[in-house]
Amino acid sequence: MKHKIPKSHPRYESLITREMLVEAFEKGVVVPQGLIAHGRGECFDYLIGERTIPPADEAAKAAAAALLLAEHPIISVNGNTAALAARDVVRLAEVVGAGIEVNLFYRSREREEAIARVLRESGAAEVLGVGEDASATIPELHSERRRVSPRGILVADVVLVPLEDGDRVEALERMGKRTIVIDLNPLSRSARMGSITVVDNVIRAIPNIARHAEALKGLPKEELERIVEEYDNNRVLGDVLRYICGRLRELSRIDLKRMEEYEV
Ligand code: ATP
Repeated sequence: MKHKIPKSHPRYESLITREMLVEAFEKGVVVPQGLIAHGRGECFDYLIGERTIPPADEAAKAAAAALLLAEHPIISVNGNTAALAARDVVRLAEVVGAGIEVNLFYRSREREEAIARVLRESGAAEVLGVGEDASATIPELHSERRRVSPRGILVADVVLVPLEDGDRVEALERMGKRTIVIDLNPLSRSARMGSITVVDNVIRAIPNIARHAEALKGLPKEELERIVEEYDNNRVLGDVLRYICGRLRELSRIDLKRMEEYEV
């Protein structure tokens, strides 16, 4: 890393994450707009206390069950996800038997290749959606996000879409696919349009979904179906907002200079 961050820095992890993104930006994996999107995510992460909150864990469990039940699950990867969670994506794909596909709003051949390289270096045997492989299109979608692999997202029944834009989530849902969104902003269009929304940082969410998948793997199909059927995304998003309101209410009563000493 170009800038050495002292381990003792109170915001060490957050600063390391920024360094990872800047490095990925210099390698052509992340676009400048991705850095801005990260800033928005950081803000919401502060609001939830930079940890996996109970409604996010509930969503992660339902996501794991949906991925295990899927006939053709696909994990869609963009620049920020590759920069922050490439190894975790590969691990999750192994646990649930999913394919991995590059899908970008700001698409260029060089960027597709750079992201595929990061994924392969992290252990991915196959990366879909690169070059001519992204030859199919999602109907009614006009951004570069519409280009997908005919062996991947086009034929998938469940698509995990971390850090997605709302339009594509909506288009995938219209095609009858179940989408699992990871987004720190519970109010984004993606968060509201998805079938299952995990309001958590991709850095925590992807390994957490993998942990749940490992625990659920041995269960009978009916049990997994019950978890997915009983899951209510609207209620869970409401729980996230209530959690944030409650936390802010608690924080407003304490000495903010000593915030770390309190369990809020
Ligand atoms: P929409 O079209 O869904 O309303 P948007 O315009 O906010 O979304 P983008 O600009 O693509 O979409 O932003 C990406 C989203 O990713 C933001 O909502 C941001 O909160 C979220 N985000 C950024 N970094 C992370 C991260 N590390 N983990 C989870 N979510 C993140």
